Amino acid sequence: MTQQFTALPTHAAAGPLFAHIARQKTGTALLEFAVLGSSSAGNASILRVTTADSRRQILIDAGLSPRAVRGHLSVLDFEMDETNEVLFTHFDNDHAKSGWGKVAMETGLRLRCSSRHVAGARARGYPDIAIESFDARGAGFDLGPVRVIPCENPHDDGGTVAFRLETPAGDLGFATDLGRVSDALIDSMRGVHLLAIESNYDPVMQESSNRPRFLKDRIMGGRGHLSNAECIDAVRAIAWPDEPEQVVLLHLSRDCNCRELVGDLWADALPSLAPKLRISQPFAAMQPIRMKEGRVQP
Ligand SMILES: [Zn+2]
Repeated sequence: MTQQFTALPTHAAAGPLFAHIARQKTGTALLEFAVLGSSSAGNASILRVTTADSRRQILIDAGLSPRAVRGHLSVLDFEMDETNEVLFTHFDNDHAKSGWGKVAMETGLRLRCSSRHVAGARARGYPDIAIESFDARGAGFDLGPVRVIPCENPHDDGGTVAFRLETPAGDLGFATDLGRVSDALIDSMRGVHLLAIESNYDPVMQESSNRPRFLKDRIMGGRGHLSNAECIDAVRAIAWPDEPEQVVLLHLSRDCNCRELVGDLWADALPSLAPKLRISQPFAAMQPIRMKEGRVQP
């Protein structure tokens, strides 16, 4: 399969159909974001937003065990017990480990998911009393200083939810396990200051792997994951007209992708964004990205 990149984002011709044009951020609020681990073995990221009078700490997906998350957070100088909630993209095992139900019962941690995913949450053993559902087709909701705007995507049978998280310090787009990229997703992510998006596989490595045919078809068939080229096409569209300050790639396949290859593809296809790229690791937490006034802090 050849790598194809579209010449121009279709939205460039379509005009500004995006609602999120207010990129200017002022004030002293601080956004901190780190991927704690990302691969088919487990996914979890942390977002902390601190303003003059509030602080909110949100775990995005809980596909690592509570013990692993606690360990990563303490190394990064975050307090596990300050986590207010988990926002779930979906309930595959690599995004929702069962141990979090017990943590929620002990600490009052809220487990927030799409109303269409509640059955998946229950199947993980999460207690009803801890589950807080939202309408993923609705306009969004507030978690303290964070405005959450969900966007549904095709993935297996149940779909996934991507999040645009607007904060006084900057806006984060978080999108993983995307069968394909819809106009709605591009519109939802456009204008964010920090974009985390999956770049799962290289098609040649996928095809030549010894994975069974059904698995290859599931991953590449439009209800699985994004290839590197599909990710690049999506980011090119999202980054017009305002490029993110930083792009974080999520969920690279350990068998069917290669960090050096991804770096080369970005240098060729999106040279202005390539220096702003960070590639998450399967088992190691990244140093947190810190952002104020929509700008990455050194
Ligand atoms: Zn996954």
